[in-house]
Amino acid sequence: METLKIGEKTLRYDAERTRRVYSLSPRGSSWGCRCAGCRNFEVAAPAGFSPQFRSLLSSLGIDPRKEAFVRHLVPVSQGFSLYSGTYVFCGEISAAPTPQKTPSDIFEPCGENAWVTARSFDDPPVGWPNGESLRLEFLVVLPWLVPDQQKPLIDLGCSPC
Ligand SMILES: [Zn+2]
Repeated sequence: METLKIGEKTLRYDAERTRRVYSLSPRGSSWGCRCAGCRNFEVAAPAGFSPQFRSLLSSLGIDPRKEAFVRHLVPVSQGFSLYSGTYVFCGEISAAPTPQKTPSDIFEPCGENAWVTARSFDDPPVGWPNGESLRLEFLVVLPWLVPDQQKPLIDLGCSPC
């Protein structure tokens, strides 16, 4: 087991064991959905991830093409879209601040276009050890590379005029 900090959380992780589970895992969840957003994720990830995010995934033993979950959230600018998703890995949170001190849902910046946080699992997917698996939740901005029209940008109307 090795140790890593994400924000205020200290994680112990087993990259070797994670690699073994990934080598037996099927494709990522985006493969199961053929919407433009999921097809774009397949094309744009992992090359479009920040180097820091790619390096974090590699340290943890995560295969970036085998996400457990991904969702196309919203275009953030012309040609760029925000995604949220989850990778699974073997490990445990060995130290975390008490919820009163810090909200548990803070995402930490991980390079220029990614944010991550680690959370525990009540019920990990098939193949992952119960009680010894964690979720790496991520937000990432990826380029829009598929020929499909990107969804229209939403004007939230909250910029001062
Ligand atoms: Zn989809």
